[in-house]
Order: sequence, then C-alpha cells, then structure tokens
Amino acid sequence: MEIFDMREFDGHEHVVFGHDGPTGLRAVIAIHSTVLGPAAGGCRMWPYATTAEAVSDVLRLSRGMSYKNAMAGVPFGGGKAVIIGESRKAKTSELFEAFGRLVDSLGGRYITAEDVGTTTADMAHVARATRYVAGLGGAAPGAAGGDPGPKTALGVLLGIKAAVKFRLGRTDLKGVTVAVQGAGGVGYHLCSMLAAEGAQLFVADVRPAAVQRVCEAFGARPARVEEELALDVDVLAPCALGAVLNAQSIPRLRARIIAGAANNQLAQGQDGTALQTAGILYAPDYVINAGGIISVSREYHGGATEAQVIADIHGIPGRLTEIFERARRENRTTNAVADEMARERLGQRPRQLVA
Ligand code: NAD
Repeated sequence: MEIFDMREFDGHEHVVFGHDGPTGLRAVIAIHSTVLGPAAGGCRMWPYATTAEAVSDVLRLSRGMSYKNAMAGVPFGGGKAVIIGESRKAKTSELFEAFGRLVDSLGGRYITAEDVGTTTADMAHVARATRYVAGLGGAAPGAAGGDPGPKTALGVLLGIKAAVKFRLGRTDLKGVTVAVQGAGGVGYHLCSMLAAEGAQLFVADVRPAAVQRVCEAFGARPARVEEELALDVDVLAPCALGAVLNAQSIPRLRARIIAGAANNQLAQGQDGTALQTAGILYAPDYVINAGGIISVSREYHGGATEAQVIADIHGIPGRLTEIFERARRENRTTNAVADEMARERLGQRPRQLVA
C-alpha cells in the first residue's frame, strides 16, 4: 500500500497502526494537522474489507476534521481513528481500553471521541487508559459536554433552516418536506427537532426498528432505503454514511437542498459541480455537522456551560449563508468555497480547485 501516494494522504502529519493481540484490536489513527491545536476527531468502528479501505477512510475523515475544526473556530486540529471490526459483535471493554492505550501513546497529539459504531459508553472504557478522550456521557446538568449526537443534530437543524431560507425563501419549516437518511444517534434527534418545527418527515434506515421508532415518535413516513435518495422533497438530510452523493445517485436526486450530518457526503469533489448544475443547494457537510465537535471542544477545554455550547452552535447557519452567498456570487460550488475558506484558516496554500 503506497500510503504517501494516496490521493487522500494530503500531507498528513502522522499515521499510526495499532495492534493488540489479546483483545484483537486493529486500529489506525490519522493526524492530518495540529496547526490549530491537538488533532481531534471521533473513533469509527467498521468491518472494513481490507486495510487499504480502512486507511483510505481514516485519511479522508481526518482531513475532513481539520477542515471542520478550522471552520467551526474551535482550537483543535484534525484527526480521526478507525477500529477494524464489526461493532455489534467484536466490542469488548478490553478492546476499547487497548485503543485508549494507543491514543495515550500519542501524548495528546490526538483526542478521540465516539463516532459511527462507537458510543459514549465505549469511550468510558477508553478513558480508563487515557485522558485524551472527550464526548463522554454523564456531563453535569448545565455543563458543556455529553453525547455530541444531539448537538450535531441541532447544528444540522439550524443549517437546514439557513438553506431553506436561501434556496426556498422561507423563514420556517412548516410543511417543508425533509427526507432523513439514517435514524441513529444524530438522525433520531434531528427528526425530533424537525417534527417540532412542523416539517413533514420521511425516514429510511437499514435497521427497521430505528425507522419504526421515529415514525411512532414523530409521525414520520417510512421510506425504502433504495428509494430515499430519489424522493421528491425539499430537503435531503444524509445522516448515515459517506459518499452517498456520487455519479450514480446525483442524476436520481429530486431534492432542492442537501443538508445533513454524514461526513464526506460527496464521493468526489466534482460531484459538487454536478449538484450545482442540477440546481441543488449543497450545505458542505463539515460546516453543517460541526455541532458535536463544538460541544466536545468546550467540554475538553473545561469550564463552559451548555448554554455557551448552544450559542456557539448558532454560529453555524451564518457560516453556511456566507458560503452560499460567496458561491452564488463567484459562480462556484459551495464545497469548493468551503474548502478554500478552511485551507485559508489552516494556513495552507490554495489548491487547484475542481470548481
Ligand atoms: P449512528 O451509527 O448512530 O447512525 C447511523 C444510522 O445510519 C444507523 O441507524 C444505521 O443503521 C443507518 N444506516 C447505515 N447505512 C444506511 C443506509 N445505507 N441507509 C440508511 N440508513 C443507514 O451514527 P451517527 O452518530 O448518527 O452519525 C451519522 C453520520 O453523521 C455519520 O456519517 C457520522 O460520521 C456523522 N457525524 C456524526 C456526529 C455525531 O455527533 N455523532 C458528528 C458529525 C458527523
């Protein structure tokens, strides 16, 4: 595997492979940038078919964290971890403790948290071996921190409102149709908030029980996973996995706006051009989904209240509107504008942008 030559490598500072025989841990930690602070980003557990697939994913996610943290204005650089394994079968407290030792060996250059396939309870096991972990459950009432999922959902809700205002000229969500893909830690809370605002919901998830729960609680209508992306709705909110916006899916999209929590929604940068050409407004994922890292940052650095976290999250719609306006003014894609702004904040040279 030629890691230095991979497209996703993009000048990463540090990539670490960790193995622990007794627990079966196989993990990769990628640190993209520590220019703005220690590299922070969640730990994903996923049954990658090959190590190359895991490395490619962790590099993409880690660079995304650099951009996300830079745009959110939090004093963190970008990093990410992946544990190779099936989260519903291979999880043990010892495995997460071994992962904690790996994190600790980096001496604070990388700070971990939950992500897809891991939970705040798993992070409590990690915390037995390292203090470089955040987003733990059990924050005191009124204090910053705890599960980042609901905070991410709040940022996405506010981002959807900004996009609806920009694209549809509407200041509320009453009757606005929203298709939520993935009813997990973020998707569930997003559905709750959207329903409270009067949006009409469609929800799809590979887990039928997750769909049923949201339908019963919030009056959402179930959609089949394979049809969700092609629904004729105002907003599509991808809240499952990445690369859902690609050459195959984009011609089928009928939503006016794409605004959701999933990381790395565009399979490639040029997919943003295809969305722009189709007249679909895309809210760059790492800008709209920063609510969780804002909470994690406040918790990690200490002394903040939940009210301060909520106030910080209310900065997300303004940043998105700035991106939407600049993209329209310069006739460029929203993802290209966001990447450029993030790289400026990281002090990196502008790259040859796709659009
Ligand atoms: P999660 O694992 O709790 O939920 C993901 C849900 O998506 C699960 O219910 C899963 O069954 C479902 N799913 C998987 N494949 C699907 C498919 N093909 N179609 C429909 N549903 C599918 O994860 P989460 O914490 O809710 O995160 C969701 C996304 O948001 C991820 O991409 C994550 O990286 C991103 N994100 C999460 C946070 C956070 O605070 N948790 C922050 C930023 C970004």
